[in-house]
Amino acid sequence: MRDKKKIVVPGRPKKRLFLGLLLSATALWAVVLYALWYIMQPGLGKLQPWLPVAVGSVFAALVGLVLLGILNIVLAINNLPFVRVFQKQSYALINALFPWSVRLGKLFGITRRQLEGSFIAVSNLLFSRQQIRVPADRLLVVTPHCLQLATCPRKITRDPHNCRQCGGCDIGALVALADEMGFHFFVATGGTLARQIVYTTKPQAVLAIACERDLMSGIQDVYPLPAVGVLNIRPNGPCFNTHVDVEAVRRELEKIIIPGTAHRVTKKEAILGPMERKEDQ
Ligand code: SF4
Repeated sequence: MRDKKKIVVPGRPKKRLFLGLLLSATALWAVVLYALWYIMQPGLGKLQPWLPVAVGSVFAALVGLVLLGILNIVLAINNLPFVRVFQKQSYALINALFPWSVRLGKLFGITRRQLEGSFIAVSNLLFSRQQIRVPADRLLVVTPHCLQLATCPRKITRDPHNCRQCGGCDIGALVALADEMGFHFFVATGGTLARQIVYTTKPQAVLAIACERDLMSGIQDVYPLPAVGVLNIRPNGPCFNTHVDVEAVRRELEKIIIPGTAHRVTKKEAILGPMERKEDQ
């Protein structure tokens, strides 16, 4: 029998959590850089009188840039004007500071999972802030294999339409949603395959269903492709008979898909990419 303590149902992750720890990690690095500069200063001065100022300015500029990156994210999620071109740099910044944020979070009893959830909330808000709209047939929805009922014999990773929509798991409801709304739907056996599917099918946007860790790495890996994440529900512990709030998925899809662009995705289209429409060729 599975340990009930491992039951994970996503709540509402706090965006401030991630940003607060990102700022704390930056402050920590500012102190480290200052200490480093303070120790190096006499030696640098002996080499060249201008070197302490130059090195100090580089360190200060680095910290200033990081703070500007964080400010840009704060502006974006608060619906204020922000600089879009900095989003890639923001992700690089998040990647660099995330391990430090995790360490700092531990001191305050904040788990890595909570931080990842908070990152996804921030990232999803950045996504909606950009008001991305794509035709249904240029949207890819990817979900992990663990969403399928473990005892189901259907080979849905080859083609989700092999699901007979028996209601035993949420795959059936997602297949029905794909048929209704016209997006491409894939079930991936792992994060690597999910990324491969994204690269080969070349969608205009991605909606991924997964756990915090996979969503966090996946969203960053597929950038600059816009990706929105929906957390899975894990009543049986991680990676086993997981679920998703299908209505939450539908709500997200309705925000992304341009109305009136739905068309039924054929079996061939569901399996093969890329998703180039005739006018793109
Ligand atoms: S809905 Fe039924 S047939 Fe489809 S994957 Fe789940 S258990 Fe299998």
